Amino acid sequence: MLQVFQNAIPVIETIERAGFEAYFVGGSIRDYILDRPIHDIDIATSATPQEVKSLFRHTIDIGIEHGTVLVIYNGNQYEITTFRTESGYKDFRRPDHVEYVRSLELDLQRRDFTMNAIAMDKKGKFIDPFAGYEAISQKVIVTVGNANERFREDALRMMRAIRFVSQLVFTLNEETKQAIYQDAHLLQHISVERITLEFTKLLNGSNKYQALALLSETGLITYMPGIKGKEKQFQTNVIQAVNDLTENQVWLYLLAVLNIDDPGSFLKEWRLPSKKVKYLTRNYECLMLRKTQPWNKIMLYDAGKETAIDVEKVFRTLKGQSIERVEQEVSIDYQQLAITSREQINVTGKDLMEWFEVKGGPWIKETLRTIEVAILHKEVGPNKQEIKEWLQRCNLQQGKKY
Ligand code: ATP
Ligand code: MG
Repeated sequence: MLQVFQNAIPVIETIERAGFEAYFVGGSIRDYILDRPIHDIDIATSATPQEVKSLFRHTIDIGIEHGTVLVIYNGNQYEITTFRTESGYKDFRRPDHVEYVRSLELDLQRRDFTMNAIAMDKKGKFIDPFAGYEAISQKVIVTVGNANERFREDALRMMRAIRFVSQLVFTLNEETKQAIYQDAHLLQHISVERITLEFTKLLNGSNKYQALALLSETGLITYMPGIKGKEKQFQTNVIQAVNDLTENQVWLYLLAVLNIDDPGSFLKEWRLPSKKVKYLTRNYECLMLRKTQPWNKIMLYDAGKETAIDVEKVFRTLKGQSIERVEQEVSIDYQQLAITSREQINVTGKDLMEWFEVKGGPWIKETLRTIEVAILHKEVGPNKQEIKEWLQRCNLQQGKKY
């Protein structure tokens, strides 16, 4: 058994010694079978949250209303969730009732897909009542039980299914896929935050092309922020080449193909973090400029290397060109810039005021920009004395005091 599971065996044994059952469950078992990196170790138990809390010294209530307690043991964190069933789901999202049960099988039955409904005991034996192992071997996503029923209980599961297509390079089984066609509209009951979380995971997967195509094919895409009315553009422009783009690059690509006039508002509708909105909005402006002209030193300097790579990759993808050499090409051009940031010019506004005996004002900013541009064009070096003399020469020519 993998070390990450072995580390947790004392936790399971502690619960067992108190007379309860405990198993590894969920994504970690799936990823273990797939030989993928394991993030978090989830444990399911017949003990109630109160019983779990009484057994460990360090616990944190992270979702006690759903039966989850975080246990910190030997520096590792484990989410321990009481076996439960769910019922209600009047609003297509959260269950009205969570009921604790003492049977593992009932707990596995409430899980979304068969690949996520496998438990493993401390000896490494699988408990797999829904043939999840076989589904993993066939790389197929199958709901536990009737797909329509499961999506009507919680419509987010449709997004989860498609994000797993991207992340795991799996396919949807036919019944599961048909149910998404039928139930796509239920996604409107799901909060933007939860949709965005799944979409972001999708964009970080290696098979995003298939997953984005499925969003479009099944009609789910209509219910995603800011897309209504733009489905056709989305569908036509989801191409195989997006698989070679990073998350940020796909966002940029989507902004471009969907012809978004106000990227800030569009991205805010998705409730993306403001730092990301800012970065992408800036990149979008740069992409618009790139569409009108080739790179020059100033553009490259203003963009910065990361943005330049993102923008150029998206630009070439939009033109159907290969992006293979972008990183290398941009890096070479970038390395040849005389400076890559303002900090490398050791002239300050204070220096300018002293040199020319003029009070501060907008001229400072303008002059610093002039210096920056001149250095980039190699009209002057970045050294202080050189800059001073150069400025004096310029001013003399222009008959200005400074
Ligand atoms: P990830 O690798 O993204 O963590 P995961 O499968 O572990 O994937 P989690 O959101 O961490 O996903 O959920 C843990 C487990 O809880 C899942 O494996 C699944 O068994 C169950 N689960 C999560 N969300 C749902 C849902 N919406 N409906 C039913 N079961 C769910
Ligand atoms: Mg998980």
